[in-house]
Amino acid sequence: MSKIVVLDYGHGLPDPGACGCGLEEYKVAAELGSAVKMHLERHNVKVVLTRTGPYSLSSVRDLKQNKREDLNKRVAIANAAEADLFVSFHLNSGGGTGYETLCYSIDARVRAVHDAVAEFLKFNNVKDRGIKVRTDLAVLKCKPKAVLLECLFIDNPKDMELMKKPSFFNGLTETIAKGILTAIGIKYVPLKNPGKKEEPRMKQADAEKIIIYLQAAWKAATCEDEKKEIGRLADEVRAAAGMKKVNG
Ligand SMILES: [Zn+2]
Repeated sequence: MSKIVVLDYGHGLPDPGACGCGLEEYKVAAELGSAVKMHLERHNVKVVLTRTGPYSLSSVRDLKQNKREDLNKRVAIANAAEADLFVSFHLNSGGGTGYETLCYSIDARVRAVHDAVAEFLKFNNVKDRGIKVRTDLAVLKCKPKAVLLECLFIDNPKDMELMKKPSFFNGLTETIAKGILTAIGIKYVPLKNPGKKEEPRMKQADAEKIIIYLQAAWKAATCEDEKKEIGRLADEVRAAAGMKKVNG
């Protein structure tokens, strides 16, 4: 049976969440979550979403009541899904910097999700604010093990400058997915970069022609160093054509 993960994109109109640096939390949270969803699905994980559009799950007009009903509905979806993990995507605000993982209680799954990202943060000089226990957040009290990821500060220009970089965004979402997969016992398979496929730079027939000339030069060579150098060049030509080296 395939594993099930609930992905919860934080907030939703009429509540945009925190705003800053020209960004709105409900949008960035959905972008982060969607990228993680792609990675999970290519590992055959069944992904259940709480909100699928820009709107909250409540139609109540009063914002406070809307938020309460929205959160209750998210918890109900999580509880009905019989999921292996619940992951909520948010962005922090209030003048700080960095990334943190919130949970109702810490266990190995929470650690797996956070630790995968911790390495990535270190590499990118992003502050790791660690794992924090929060018993007051409704979504963390759902039946599946739940984590809420505060993915940098939306009101911090330095944080958002990074977030806007595709290389950082892709790296972050890939490592979050890696952590989730580790938490639910699935080995991560890296995404193959189709642009990186190594094609031979030279046709084999051309390489063979050049090697014939090099062999003639090798025979005419008068010292060992010269022969060695010609052998090395022949191997470079073979490598360029995707052939096996002969001279080591
Ligand atoms: Zn939020």
